[in-house]
Amino acid sequence: MKFERSISAFSRARRTIAGGVNSPVRAFRAVGGTPVFMKEGREATLFDLDGHEFIDYVLSWGPLILGHAHPAVVKAIQSAALRGTSFGTPTEAESELAELVSARFPSMQRLRFTSSGTEATMSTVRLARGFTKRDLIVKFAGCYHGHADAFLIAAGSGALTHGVPDSPGVPAGVAADTLVLPFNDMEAVREAFERHARRIAAVIVEPYAGNMGLVLPRGGYLRFLREVTQQAGSLLIFDEMITGFRVAPGGAQEVEGIVPDLTTLGKILGGGLPAGAFGGRADIMQELSPEGPVYQAGTLSGNPLAMAAGVATLRALEDQQLYARLEDLSAQLCDGLTAVFDRHGIANQTYRTASMFCTFFADRPVHDLETAGAADTNLYAKYFQAMLARGVYLPPSQFETAFLSAAHTQRDIERTIAAAEEAVESLLIPAR
Ligand SMILES: *Cc1c(COP(=O)(O)O)cnc(C)c1O
Repeated sequence: MKFERSISAFSRARRTIAGGVNSPVRAFRAVGGTPVFMKEGREATLFDLDGHEFIDYVLSWGPLILGHAHPAVVKAIQSAALRGTSFGTPTEAESELAELVSARFPSMQRLRFTSSGTEATMSTVRLARGFTKRDLIVKFAGCYHGHADAFLIAAGSGALTHGVPDSPGVPAGVAADTLVLPFNDMEAVREAFERHARRIAAVIVEPYAGNMGLVLPRGGYLRFLREVTQQAGSLLIFDEMITGFRVAPGGAQEVEGIVPDLTTLGKILGGGLPAGAFGGRADIMQELSPEGPVYQAGTLSGNPLAMAAGVATLRALEDQQLYARLEDLSAQLCDGLTAVFDRHGIANQTYRTASMFCTFFADRPVHDLETAGAADTNLYAKYFQAMLARGVYLPPSQFETAFLSAAHTQRDIERTIAAAEEAVESLLIPAR
């Protein structure tokens, strides 16, 4: 497979765009080679500049649960655009989406829309601090909550992929107010609460961690976080940016039966357009400006196009069969991939929940950042390239989660497993 046009498009981009990309993991640093420039997406297929087709398991890093250019979503965006793209006034579309969100996430009694996930988590933490009048935030190593200063400490996703957990530019004073603990370790949480008792404003967690690969919580872990925060008068924030509307309509909190104080959403929420949201208990949300003193704002927050795309997406997800079908495809795919790796004696830990999945090339189970770090990233890079060459687009990093969409077909799954078989065989043949 030749990527001539992508290569020249990338050199063009690098002349004006920092690093040639507008978000670091897109640069393919973790897997080598040149990022593939896409020009079109249809259902589960991506089309690049050089005329190749790929089965897409990245789906814009999670938002496209309906696949690319879903007709209902496109239509909603088109008709919204014809009425004007932004007013800087309230619109009814905002209430419509807010009602749909709140019906699925009853814990979000009040919410507010933002233009990105980062804004949502950043604002949530400010609100949590303002409400509790405490400064400390607990986060878990390998969890990613966007790129605001308070979270860029042992963060996942791009920060992890590039091996720069602590970004220059984050003041030591800010970092000092973020306690980083290992994921899935109850003892560490208990100790932190013993030591800092009444100073912890909130614990923020990705209930199913999807930014260090996919790492699932141990039994009882999330419930423990709920109890420990409640006892200490701290808030529990579920960052459901990935899991919201994906693992169930009401996210991981629905699946686990846990009610956090605050929740952050993004990705699927905007149906492929920029949107985030944060919300929770009414008494907390009421501290937000203009009702309360905690400031938060956004020129394009609640943008009509994003709201329209979000409404169309959430309505399309009302199809009850859809989640069951995704579950079925996801199980088939992961069983098939595991069988391929096992048959060829490749140590792997393949995890999945609903339509999110990830294979770590590691010989021990992965339950936190440290065990994820033991994965063979060189092997992942080779596997990624071998799959790409066979028309399968996987996340360009070992530390990202792959996704399925409702547009994937049985045939896509079969072709992907067959591609993996060939890819793995090609890796095992010693290079001549
Ligand atoms: C993607 C993501 C974010 C950040 O959202 P952006 O829209 O990229 O700013 C925050 N938290 C989690 C869990 C995410 O997956």
